[in-house]
Amino acid sequence: MAGKQILIVEDEKPIRDMIAFGLRRAGYDVTEAEDTAEARARIADRRPDLMLVDWMLPDQSGLELTRQIKRDRDTHELPIIMLTARAEEGDKVAGLECGADDYVTKPFSPRELVARINAVLRRSAPGGPDELIRANGLTLDQAGHRVLAGEATVTLGPTEYRLLSFFMTHPDRVYSRGQLLDRVWGGNVYVEERTVDVHIRRLRKALEAHGYDRYIQTVRGAGYRFSSRPQ
Ligand code: CA
Repeated sequence: MAGKQILIVEDEKPIRDMIAFGLRRAGYDVTEAEDTAEARARIADRRPDLMLVDWMLPDQSGLELTRQIKRDRDTHELPIIMLTARAEEGDKVAGLECGADDYVTKPFSPRELVARINAVLRRSAPGGPDELIRANGLTLDQAGHRVLAGEATVTLGPTEYRLLSFFMTHPDRVYSRGQLLDRVWGGNVYVEERTVDVHIRRLRKALEAHGYDRYIQTVRGAGYRFSSRPQ
């Protein structure tokens, strides 16, 4: 994971310095911001591979910053680990519900933080956008913006492509309609949850022509899942 760029958003300089030092030693590229306004400027300037966001920041809470980043279609795939001094379970749930990928409670060791960063990077980025992702004979070609079933191109509308692309990069996990709206539609626009069902139906129909519709699975009462295992 060396060479990945990590943006640290933390107002307390000693803590920021300590984290930056540990991450640089682990081979990361580090940029720093002391509040959410500076964080936004840094993201606009150069997109980091992952962000560490302190909960308590002077201009706006780290929770709110995380929520906004995860709702914006341009940035919603950016992995975020929240840092906090608060260890209450309710806070942890709030942190994860606002879209954070993980949550680390202060005080933590640099070694522990690096391990968590590596885990989130592995989980959230199965290869860069140029890498082909394969599952059960389906191939997601993100650079070519297409999906192949064997050798044949699956004909997909733009939303169905984004949906299938999200599923193939996040396999074997159940996502609720609300989560799919946030992650695939971006949450910028008001879309009803049943819209998800409409596009799932279209996606299945497109895959059915190639015999792959069974990999998009309905999990009753929970949402949808893409299975990467033979069915
Ligand atoms: Ca703080």
